[in-house]
Amino acid sequence: MTHPQQAEEWKIEKRSRACSLCQRVFRSEEEHYSGIAETEGRFGRRDVCLPCWEKKPELFSFWRTRTPRREDRKLENIAAMTDFFKKLLEKPLEEPNRQKIAYLTALLLARKRRLKLHGSAGGKLRIEKTWDGETIEIPDPPISDAELADLRVQMEQLFEIEVGAGDLAS
Ligand SMILES: [Zn+2]
Repeated sequence: MTHPQQAEEWKIEKRSRACSLCQRVFRSEEEHYSGIAETEGRFGRRDVCLPCWEKKPELFSFWRTRTPRREDRKLENIAAMTDFFKKLLEKPLEEPNRQKIAYLTALLLARKRRLKLHGSAGGKLRIEKTWDGETIEIPDPPISDAELADLRVQMEQLFEIEVGAGDLAS
């Protein structure tokens, strides 16, 4: 299913991280907040400098951070993805986009060994959370190829990761 050339097409240019409110590019290792905003069921990445944070931007989940070196950034992104997923589980909604994002986040976390997948049946995916050992079921919603392409871009932006074609196969 994964073809190297196909996966290549999904690589996106990484811009320097900048404040989403004042647009200023962060200095190396500058402290700031990062988070995920929800607008009508769609999630978007936000990075906010400390002065702009005083304006209390509304975010679904957020974390304090500093502009990281490359290797540290990878670990931070996995931690952010885990935290985001926990928030989704805390507030389960029937909203279809949210269910799809939750499902795809679970697949990515399984790749990162933060979750174990125990198969899918009857429209539900069984997952075991490594952080508390609990096994639960989440919706396994139908996702068309066109939707998957759109959702993959959304997730790359949220977590500043490159998502290969094979990463979202269950
Ligand atoms: Zn700012």
